[in-house]
Amino acid sequence: MEKLALFDIGAKFADGIDSLCKKCGELKSVCVCSKVGEVKERNSYFLGINEEKAKGKDITRCGIFFEEKEAMQEILKTAKKKFSCGGSLEQENNGFWLILQGRHKEVLKMFLKTQKFQFKK
Ligand SMILES: [Zn+2]
Repeated sequence: MEKLALFDIGAKFADGIDSLCKKCGELKSVCVCSKVGEVKERNSYFLGINEEKAKGKDITRCGIFFEEKEAMQEILKTAKKKFSCGGSLEQENNGFWLILQGRHKEVLKMFLKTQKFQFKK
C-alpha cells in the first residue's frame, strides 16, 4: 500500500516542478492547507460521484463536499488507505472535490454513506 503511494508521488514529481506541502504531504498545487471551505450539515446536500478518465487514467471524482478542510484531508487519507490508491483534493468555489485514482465508485459511495454523506442517486 505505502509503496504505491510513494511511487505515485515520485511520478508526479517528475512531471513538473511542484513541491510537497510540509503539513499534509500533498503537492502544493493540490494542497488545500491554506484554503477555507464552506461547511454545511452532511444531511443538507447531495454528493455526485463519477468514474472518469484523466490523462488516460481512470479516476473516481466525488463532490462537492462542504466540509472543513481538516475533515476532507482525513477523509482523503482514510479513502487512500482503504482502497490502496492515490488521491487528492480540489477546491471549487466554497467546496471540495475528492479525487481517487482508479475506479472506486461503489466502494467509495458505501464508505461515505457510513460517514453520513448523502448521494444524488
Ligand atoms: Zn498542505
